[in-house]
Amino acid sequence: MVQMNDAYRPISRPSGLAEEVYRRIRADIMSLRIPPDTRVSVDSLARELGVSQTPIREALSMLEANGLVSKRHFAGYATSPRMDRAQLDDLFEFRLLIEPHAARKAAEGMTDSDMGQLVSGESASSHDAFADMDTDFHRLIAQGAGNHLIADSLARLHIHVHIFRSCFRSEITEEAVHEHNAIIAAIRARDGAKAEAAMRRHIELSYGRLRDFIKE
Ligand SMILES: [Zn+2]
Repeated sequence: MVQMNDAYRPISRPSGLAEEVYRRIRADIMSLRIPPDTRVSVDSLARELGVSQTPIREALSMLEANGLVSKRHFAGYATSPRMDRAQLDDLFEFRLLIEPHAARKAAEGMTDSDMGQLVSGESASSHDAFADMDTDFHRLIAQGAGNHLIADSLARLHIHVHIFRSCFRSEITEEAVHEHNAIIAAIRARDGAKAEAAMRRHIELSYGRLRDFIKE
């Protein structure tokens, strides 16, 4: 057997299997089939999904990077706790400071090709899929603002993961799609003031929708 030199070892990337395992576990966490703040056992996931521990471990580290699970001392992994009311308030105060401004700058300076990638999420086939599209939508606008600190600090909050685990009402998706379309129209028109106002409105309305849901 040929021993591969370290220097020639391929960069490890999630195999197809780990990717599939990741999607399955992620869907279960997003739908709360695996509840928040709950220990996730590598053994039992491996048994349940009929795979070895390796793809489970790979999937868990991908989930960790996306804020859905975290490593616990001596206890393996656990799902992230659900957002409480104080965290919701902090999150939306922060979003209101950053994202309307980012939308204005994106309208003024975003490239046409990045603009072409903005989609409202109308075509999303599930709650899970809409969470991804919403994430991309807000990420593209934050990047379009051309300030790395803005883009990085928003990305690190994993805003959409936490929001979508907190709330399942389908009207959230429909209303958000409407509001996203207004933002896209303002950005396409390169109207900074309008984009800023439309983003502020979207965040205020999102907050209103979630506030009813997260009482304490
Ligand atoms: Zn949104």
